[in-house]
Amino acid sequence: MPNSWIADRTRQFDSDGIRRMFELARKLKDPINLSIGQPDFAVPQLVKDEITRAIRENKNGYTPTEGIAPLREKLQRTIVDPLEHSDRKLFVCSGTSGGLTLAMMSLINPGDEVIFFDPYFVMYPAIVELVGGRPVIIDNYPDFRFDVGAVASAITPKTKMILLNSPANPTGVCPSPEEIRDIALLAAERNICLVSDEIYSRFCYDAPHVSPARFNDQAIVVDGFSKPYAMTGLRAGYVHGPSEIIETMSKLQQLTFVCAPAPVQWGCIAALDVDIQGEVDRYRLKRDYLLAELANDYEIAIPGGAFYVFPKLPWGDGDSFQNAAIAENLLIIPGKIFSRHDTHFRISYAVDDQTLERGIEVLKNLARNPVAFQPAGTETHFS
Ligand code: PMP
Repeated sequence: MPNSWIADRTRQFDSDGIRRMFELARKLKDPINLSIGQPDFAVPQLVKDEITRAIRENKNGYTPTEGIAPLREKLQRTIVDPLEHSDRKLFVCSGTSGGLTLAMMSLINPGDEVIFFDPYFVMYPAIVELVGGRPVIIDNYPDFRFDVGAVASAITPKTKMILLNSPANPTGVCPSPEEIRDIALLAAERNICLVSDEIYSRFCYDAPHVSPARFNDQAIVVDGFSKPYAMTGLRAGYVHGPSEIIETMSKLQQLTFVCAPAPVQWGCIAALDVDIQGEVDRYRLKRDYLLAELANDYEIAIPGGAFYVFPKLPWGDGDSFQNAAIAENLLIIPGKIFSRHDTHFRISYAVDDQTLERGIEVLKNLARNPVAFQPAGTETHFS
């Protein structure tokens, strides 16, 4: 029986919430879709050209597991060398997700504790648990800052890793350089691996991105091409950190993902020369506009980066609010997908201005006209 063949470790995971979103998006006609976690601009033409050129030139085979040399060298020169760490190496992986998964596989023993903040990127609890680790989740409401004191108090003899994400998904919040420094130094002092997910590092609106690797030469940085170059479906990322850890991750990549897609790696070389500041400036304007428009009706922690805001629900719970939004053709994501709390929701403003304006109109109406409270679990007519 196929059901009994399925491994026990899979049963604790539930992707229904996310699947439901995709199904809804498909069913609605012309939805106002503020649920999408990817840029609305196209892959830069130069990158597309290089990828298709690589395909035409038959560069479609396996690459060295750590990535093609010209890409690695360029990343090393532009991203790793400026850190001036004596023992920092880099490899190319299949998206940031691939890098994060390999980090867990390489560093977490069963029973090891991994500290991260709530709200968190959906993948974090799952990848920790998949390798037998134990998520230690620090409540980060209501301002979503990095609280070094809370991290220090959560440390136990079993703490193996602190996993940071700034700018953060789903809140967009960028903690201050001091908050980042304090956690980076705490990890170094307590001999705990620090993994920094920097996939939104290029989308910082109020101040330049600060990596904890600036303060901790053992930090492991995971970043990628998905968000800055709108390459989410092309699956390319990279990880840099202490050489022994990078070599271990690369060894496991050889035995699992093998390599990032070969033609895409050639495109990534070109991507590193593309200036995306125009897109970042465009998103800054969208953020400012959205915050100004929603200020009277929603409580929102100021997002300094990424392309999300995480407002507090004006009424009801995540499902009831989502259902009311859907009835108005609007797609948002209930916060409980990213959290142990069900008090907020995520909107992405990586959409065209007209969609954003339509979404804002619906959101204002929803806040001002609470729909009769519908308890969770009554959403079947939408699925
Ligand atoms: N980390 C965070 C915080 C993300 O939001 C995402 C994508 N939504 C990823 C990692 C994964 O990105 P990638 O496409 O590079 O796997």
